[in-house]
Amino acid sequence: MKIVLLGPPGAGKGTLAKDVAAMFTIPHISTGDMLRTAVKKGGATAEEADRLMRQGQLLPDDLILRIVKERLSQPDCAAGYILDGVPRTVAQAQGLEAIGATVEKAVLLLVPDQIVILRMTARRVCAQCGTGYNLISMPPKKEDVCDMCGGPVISRADDAPQTIADRLKIYHHETAPLADFYKGRGVLLPIVADSTPQKALAALLRALEKQSTPSTGIH
Ligand code: AMP
Repeated sequence: MKIVLLGPPGAGKGTLAKDVAAMFTIPHISTGDMLRTAVKKGGATAEEADRLMRQGQLLPDDLILRIVKERLSQPDCAAGYILDGVPRTVAQAQGLEAIGATVEKAVLLLVPDQIVILRMTARRVCAQCGTGYNLISMPPKKEDVCDMCGGPVISRADDAPQTIADRLKIYHHETAPLADFYKGRGVLLPIVADSTPQKALAALLRALEKQSTPSTGIH
């Protein structure tokens, strides 16, 4: 199965992608995670990438396509993958097509802006091991301390209130048009994802099941 996950920041793409990847035994490819790892390692473009990410700005399409192409050429991607956070622009979607990266399903997570803002404000991450938390739905057992490694649990720089507003604006302007792009390709699968991760996963599985069941023409 070759899937892309679309939806605003804070829609729950990362959590859903992990579940789907485990369920279908396909790699979860998150450009955000790949970029954060690259920034930690340092190097030529790390400083500029870090600055743009902290501001919630998008990185250049050619850079993104280069790292995704590299990742998709690895053998574990041959049978399928779930792309999380890419494409984020129509140019990236066209770039994926140009490198032959098939998209069989484009799952669009439908979440209203007000819920996105609430969720992102409550989002936390372990500065040491990267485990994600949410103060509302999944807080660490001990305040500000990671359950996994005991590291400090902090806010991501790009989850600051003004940055959340900027990221939403960029989403509506740059990324939301991808819904029409994939609708035109006949692969768009919108699902409601405004409550729990479990409900979003169940909605996705139902939608996949419905699509794979051949229509009898009898209603
Ligand atoms: P994410 O973890 O998916 O929210 O991504 C964090 C940040 O990484 C984004 O706000 C962007 O700055 C950058 N980023 C991740 N994926 C992309 C992409 N496909 N295109 C451009 N920038 C990206």
